Amino acid sequence: MTPPASKDQMPVWRDNGAILQVNEIFYSIEGEGLRVGQPTTFVRLARCNLRCFFCDTEFDSFEEMTISQIVDTVVRHPAKWVCLTGGEPLGQNIAPLCRELVSAGFRLHIETNGTIDPDPVLCDLIEHWTVSPKRQKIADGLTHITELKYVVGKAFCENMVDENRAKYIYLQPESSKPRYINKALDILSRHPNWRLSCRIHKMLQLP
Ligand code: SF4
Repeated sequence: MTPPASKDQMPVWRDNGAILQVNEIFYSIEGEGLRVGQPTTFVRLARCNLRCFFCDTEFDSFEEMTISQIVDTVVRHPAKWVCLTGGEPLGQNIAPLCRELVSAGFRLHIETNGTIDPDPVLCDLIEHWTVSPKRQKIADGLTHITELKYVVGKAFCENMVDENRAKYIYLQPESSKPRYINKALDILSRHPNWRLSCRIHKMLQLP
């Protein structure tokens, strides 16, 4: 079981969602999963409810931003897709932001660890759902999962895969170490409908 964050490390939920804690907003190319290669603006929400030992994302620092400040930043980038990531984006009330982004013509993608039930309105606003389980049960309210993406490290085993929850299953080696790549390839040889996710943004040294 992945350990939860301590109370003071948890994402902060505000009922009106008017201000969000944002770690960074940046433009890049989607490097993982089904949308790989598409220009995307990433909105990284601060903080996470889990503390995975292999996590390489700095998500604890943040700026408090209003919805219009976030949208004004997003529109300066050329992408039509916006990926809400983290940290854990479902730990904050992102529904009002998502409404504004959709009204402004953006298509929405979310990347979540799958432990938090989403506000049901998000199921209509967000088109692409990536759930990356971290040895925790996938929340029942996640009914629109597009792809499940599993990090293949030492502790991963193929019977953790919840095949019935998504059409697409991706295995992503924890790092470029041959033992993790070979482990993923070996599992794929037994599950030919699953796919490898390679993090092309890292290979190309993109943000
Ligand atoms: S769930 Fe994701 S963002 Fe949170 S600690 Fe684990 S790897 Fe990092």
